[in-house]
Amino acid sequence: MPATARRVLDRRRLLTAGATAAALLVAERLAGSWPAPARQLGYPFTLGVASGDPAPGGVVLWTRLAPAPLLADGGMPAHGVPVDWQVAADPGLARVVRSGTVLAQPAWAHTVHVEVDGLAPARTYWYRFRAGGEVSPVGRTRTLPAPTASPARLALAVVSCQHFEHGYYTAYRHLAEEDLDLVLHLGDYLYETAPAEGRPRRHAGPAPTDLAGYRRRHAQYRTDPDLQAAHAAVPFVLTWDDHEVQNDYAGDQSERFDPPAAFRRRRAAAYRAYWEHLPLRRRSRPRGPAARLYRRLRFGDLAELNVLDTRQYRDDQPCDRNGVGRAQVVAGCRERLDPGRTLLGTQQRRWLLAGLDRSGARWNVIAQQLLMAELDLQPGPGLAYNSDGWDGYAADRARILRFLAARRPSNPVVLGGDQHSFWVNDLALDNHQPGAATLASEFVGTSISSSGPPYEPLRACLADNPHVRFFDSRWRGYLRCLVDYRGWRTDLRVVSTVQWPVASVQTLASFVVPDGRPGPQRA
Ligand code: FE
Ligand code: CA
Repeated sequence: MPATARRVLDRRRLLTAGATAAALLVAERLAGSWPAPARQLGYPFTLGVASGDPAPGGVVLWTRLAPAPLLADGGMPAHGVPVDWQVAADPGLARVVRSGTVLAQPAWAHTVHVEVDGLAPARTYWYRFRAGGEVSPVGRTRTLPAPTASPARLALAVVSCQHFEHGYYTAYRHLAEEDLDLVLHLGDYLYETAPAEGRPRRHAGPAPTDLAGYRRRHAQYRTDPDLQAAHAAVPFVLTWDDHEVQNDYAGDQSERFDPPAAFRRRRAAAYRAYWEHLPLRRRSRPRGPAARLYRRLRFGDLAELNVLDTRQYRDDQPCDRNGVGRAQVVAGCRERLDPGRTLLGTQQRRWLLAGLDRSGARWNVIAQQLLMAELDLQPGPGLAYNSDGWDGYAADRARILRFLAARRPSNPVVLGGDQHSFWVNDLALDNHQPGAATLASEFVGTSISSSGPPYEPLRACLADNPHVRFFDSRWRGYLRCLVDYRGWRTDLRVVSTVQWPVASVQTLASFVVPDGRPGPQRA
C-alpha cells in the first residue's frame, strides 16, 4: 500500500472511531429523551438512513429495519414494528421540532418513508430513528427555499451508474463532505447483472428477477459505508434508468423480448423494491408495473428542476437486429427519425413543456438519464448513432428543442448520466448545421463506479461533433453544480481510484454558463 493511501486509511479509521464515539454520545443523550424499552431485534439500522424529495416545508426520511439485510426477510419478524423518528434543529438533537411513530410493515420490507412537514424553508435539520431499543445514525437534511424566495445559491451534485462490482464508492465519500443542497441521482442505482469473477467486489446472489431478488440487491448496495455516508449527509432526488430493472429495457419490452406480460411482472417487482429502498414520496409508489416518478422541484425563483423518467413510457429502440432489443450503433436507420415514436411518452412530454412554459425561474433544469446532444459515432464520412439514447428517438428530442427555440424559457440546462463518461455540450436543433443557434447547455456526469467506455474510439468521433465542448471517459466521479443569478458553474469532480476503498478527489475541469448565454464555456 502506498504511504499516502495508508495515511488516508488511518485518517478514515479515526473518522470511523470518531463517528462511533459520536453515536455513543447520541445514545447516552437519548436515554434522557426517549425511555429505553427492552431490546427486541438485532441492530436494525444496518442500511443507514436517508432523506429525499425536499420541499419548502418538509422532506422524506427513510430507513429500513434489517438486522440481517441479505436474508429475504431482512432478519425481521413477519409483523409490523413501530419506529420512532425525530427531526431536530441541531446536530445533537437537543431541539426536536417534529417527531412521531410509524409502523414498519413486512409487506414493504420494513422500510420507513416519513413525509415530514411543518419545517421551515431553506434550513438544515438533523434526524434519527429508534426501533427495538436501538438508535439509528443521525442524518442531516435540508429543506427547499420558499417558492417566492430568491436564494443566494443552489449547490447540487449529479451522480449516476454505481455498479457495485466495478469498484468502491470513493466518489460518495467525497461527495458527502461537499456543502450541497441536494444530490440528483440520474439512474443505474444498482445493476441487475449476475455475479462475476475478478472484480473488486461481488454481487450477492444471482441476477434478480423477482421482488426478493431485487430487495436483496438493493440491500447489498446499501450496506456500502460511503453510499450510507452520502445519504446521511444530503437529501437525494432520484430517477431510474434501465439497470434498476434490466439492461436497455424499453417500456414493456425487455432486452430479449420476453412476453410483455411477464416482463411487466418483473418490472413491477423491480419498481417496488426501488421505491421501498429509496427516500421517495408516497405519490411515486408503484401500482403494479406503473409508477409516477417524473416530478418538479422549485428552488425559489432561482431554479426549477424537472426530473424525467426516460424508461417507463418509451417505445422500443429503433432498427433492432437479430432479435436483440438492446442498444446498438445504427447507421442508415430511418426508424429513429419516425415522428410517431417517443422516448418520454406524450403525457410526460406535455407535462415537461407546460412546466417550462409556466416557469419564472432563472435556470430551468431538465434532469434525465441520457445524453441529449446528437452524437455521430462514425468517425469521418457517414453517420451512426446509439439507438438507446435520444438519437434513437430524434423526433421527441426535436419537439423539445423546437419548443426551447420558440418559447425561450430562461436558461435551459440539461443534466444526464448513462454514458459512464463526462460530456459537456451545446444543444442545438440541428447540431450538424454550421452556425446553428445554441438553445441549451448540457452536462453529462461520469459514473460513480461503473467502468467507462474506451477513450480513444470516442475521442476519434469528436471532430465529427463540434458541439461537444468536453469529453472524458477515463474517470469516475460526479458533477458539482453551483448556481446563482449571474451564472451556472459545473465542476467535473473525479476520484483517483475505485479499485480501492480510499481515494483522493480533484476537479478535472470546470465550465460556466453566464445568465442569458447558452453554451458552456471552459472556466
Ligand atoms: Fe450505467
Ligand atoms: Ca461521421
